[in-house]
Amino acid sequence: MNQQLKERLEELAENPVEWDCNLAPFTSFGIGGPADAIVQVESPDELGSLLEFFAEHGLAWRFIGKGTNILVSDSGFSGVILLFGKALSSIALLEESGTDLIHVRVGAGCSLARLLNWCVTGGYSGLEFSAGIPGSLGGAVVMNAGAWGGEMSDIIDSLCVLSQKSGIEYLDRDELDFCYRVWKNQGNANSKRLVLSADICLKHGQKTEIQQKCMGYLLQRKEKQPKIDKNAGSFFKNPKGDSAGRLIEASGLKGTRYGGAMVSPVHANFLVNTGEATANDVFKLMDIVTTRVEKDSGVQLLPEVHFL
Ligand SMILES: Cc1cc2nc3c(=O)[nH]c(=O)nc-3n(C[C@H](O)[C@H](O)[C@H](O)COP(=O)(O)OP(=O)(O)OC[C@H]3O[C@@H](n4cnc5c(N)ncnc54)[C@H](O)[C@@H]3O)c2cc1C
Repeated sequence: MNQQLKERLEELAENPVEWDCNLAPFTSFGIGGPADAIVQVESPDELGSLLEFFAEHGLAWRFIGKGTNILVSDSGFSGVILLFGKALSSIALLEESGTDLIHVRVGAGCSLARLLNWCVTGGYSGLEFSAGIPGSLGGAVVMNAGAWGGEMSDIIDSLCVLSQKSGIEYLDRDELDFCYRVWKNQGNANSKRLVLSADICLKHGQKTEIQQKCMGYLLQRKEKQPKIDKNAGSFFKNPKGDSAGRLIEASGLKGTRYGGAMVSPVHANFLVNTGEATANDVFKLMDIVTTRVEKDSGVQLLPEVHFL
């Protein structure tokens, strides 16, 4: 990016731009090279202006939520990384309709943990399945994050989104196409939709029951998932009717290492960074796992983690 464009980017961004910044600290894997610039966005208007500016000058950009489902390459990203700041993380009760349903508007930058805590405090039920899923509301929508038989698409009423091509749009539930760990009509290239906020529908519930359910899920996670090593959660999607973890374990791959990357001995579908792993180590390990599982069981594992 030339000096003139750098100055223009600094004018458009509300927060100071971070130049040549390492992306590893922005991901739960703790892996990744530098990006040319990182901008923490605070409003839809600012985001709109930035996307226009990028389109006008052919600048590459990507979005990271809380970085808990992303593997960033060792060479990093040649372009601008956008993140959401605090102003896009609000939680607002929309209405209490007189029924047992309640509707809530949540900013995409809000962490799932903060939202769940808010639900527990208010006695609102519906999001318990997310207990222990890290990440932002926006990331959870895009990934259709889920656990224990629940997923984000169960509770989404509508989305407010923004794209380079169409600006701000409001999409109702029936316009949204979700399936297992994918929001299918997010779009791509200049029609890629960024989630600004989601309206979700919850139910009134017993505070103690909601709390107990969450605690139960958290406890099970504690027992089944690696505690120390950095990771991005389940690395592969579960094939229909089976579990990626079971297939990897059946191939005897628990504990297999490549460089600093390892198949977790605790949960085989977690590829972990034992300390100094590079993205290349993780890619190589991913190859070892997919090749071996396909040879042993004929199943082709597909990554759930997004690559940047
Ligand atoms: C220990 C651990 C446990 C986990 N357990 C689960 C689990 O049980 N179930 C599950 O489903 N997932 C799980 N995950 C994965 C991850 O936490 C979820 O997918 C989470 O919802 C990702 O949110 P994020 O903000 O971190 O997204 P990121 O990792 O930052 O981004 C993921 C993708 O979403 C895009 N994105 C993020 N925010 C937006 C936005 N506002 N608008 C448009 N695009 C956006 C990014 O560009 C990227 O393509 C786990 C991860 C970890 C580390």
